Amino acid sequence: MPMFEDQDILSASEQADIQAKKGTSASHSNGTDHVQLPIPGDDGEGPIEVPASKSSISEASKYMHNLSVSPSMKERRSSRNSFGTSLPIPRSKRQSRLSSVHYPAEDGRPTRPGMPPIQPTRAILASQVQSIEVDKVKKAKNMAFAFDIDGVLVHGDRLIPEGQRALEILNGDNELGIKIPHIFLTNGSGKPEKARCEQLAKILHNPVNTEQFIQSHTPMSALAEYYNTVLVVGGEGYKCREVAEQYGFKDIVVPNDIVASDASIAPYRVFTPEERASSRPRDFTKVKIEAIMVFSDSRDYATDMQIIMDLLRSENGQLGTMAKDPVSQRIPIYFSQGDLLCPTEHWTPRMSQGAFRIGLEAMYKALTGADLERVVYGKPETATYKYADEVLTSWMDQLHGEEKLPENIYMIGDNPASDIIGGNMYGWNTCLVRTGVFQGGDNDENNPANFGVFPNVLEAVQTALKKELGEDFKTHFDETINPVLHGDKADAAAII
Ligand SMILES: [Mg+2]
Repeated sequence: MPMFEDQDILSASEQADIQAKKGTSASHSNGTDHVQLPIPGDDGEGPIEVPASKSSISEASKYMHNLSVSPSMKERRSSRNSFGTSLPIPRSKRQSRLSSVHYPAEDGRPTRPGMPPIQPTRAILASQVQSIEVDKVKKAKNMAFAFDIDGVLVHGDRLIPEGQRALEILNGDNELGIKIPHIFLTNGSGKPEKARCEQLAKILHNPVNTEQFIQSHTPMSALAEYYNTVLVVGGEGYKCREVAEQYGFKDIVVPNDIVASDASIAPYRVFTPEERASSRPRDFTKVKIEAIMVFSDSRDYATDMQIIMDLLRSENGQLGTMAKDPVSQRIPIYFSQGDLLCPTEHWTPRMSQGAFRIGLEAMYKALTGADLERVVYGKPETATYKYADEVLTSWMDQLHGEEKLPENIYMIGDNPASDIIGGNMYGWNTCLVRTGVFQGGDNDENNPANFGVFPNVLEAVQTALKKELGEDFKTHFDETINPVLHGDKADAAAII
């Protein structure tokens, strides 16, 4: 079956040409209006202008497909998992072997710049206040925050100052001296959770525990139960191999291992001796790679796309083979998130995993004629929010010894297309901040935040606290407080 329908394209081009000559706007077959530039006549001087024989408009749209999954997928993948129709997430509480808390200061104690050191008596004082303010404490434990990180708390490695203050309040600098549950929910990726939490704690000047931290690939640890040998793509050096090892994947292959065993697979790749020495080559024609996991942004689109495409077109993930039926013999491919763009230090956002994926989808369709079926984790996918519920529940257990999910959850994000749409769909309160991607008017037109738009994360947190705990709720813990004077006589007597 011919992949390119030249006849159609030619007629579209000819039609456009005719209309252009008439000086009218031509409409492309995909419905996009455009104006064909008139070709100047050959005046005998300068270059010769030869009319194009094909439309100058990209044909990518006909290779793209929407997120729907064909019914065939259910039957085909049900033996391993219902690929495409469900996203596995870890069932049980978080694995304690990966648990670690990271403090911003060397001595392991949280510090508050410009403020006196935290006294051990503070905990005693706070518990006395809490024993009096029973109703407020109940409400404080029934609310929680889920923070996006980039564009909300930090810009890359730079702190957004209001982020630090917001976290100090939630970590106990409030009138109850209570820790208000909060988790971090980011589409970021490419590093083990522990390393990322260490880095974040330093930037935010607040403790960050791996148990309250979800990056795009964190829930993908559940996939380790489904596949033995996997190709892990993306990230710096071998960090994603390390991530996959920590998730419990047994046999992890990265593109460098494949290039090291057969350099001709990636003809444009310059492979350094260091890369060769650190890779793990073997005869991949004898290995069945069962699934592809794109964990983070590709550092080398050409090599990674070539290897992924070779595997997707192979017979059940065996390099050196070509599937007779590209659909039934295809191995599954997972992406950790779907963001098209990512804000960086550059003046305009850079392409991210979503753009990489769309490139692959178009290439796959062009080369095989079939749609590429794939699973995309990360915000705004429901599985990621469901996993956030699990994490929040177990974090509540750690903080307050109550293993339950708070009812009033606030998602604070800067990206309407992931943070806000996902939170809205999941029934959370959503707050859009103006410190990142969103630069629009009163609210986002397509995915408006249901709790409102705020200049920064601190304003959002304070407004949510007032909503749940009262307009007069103080975002400062008074070290000089005498709790006895704040209760009624019966409470005071109980404390004395
Ligand atoms: Mg963001």
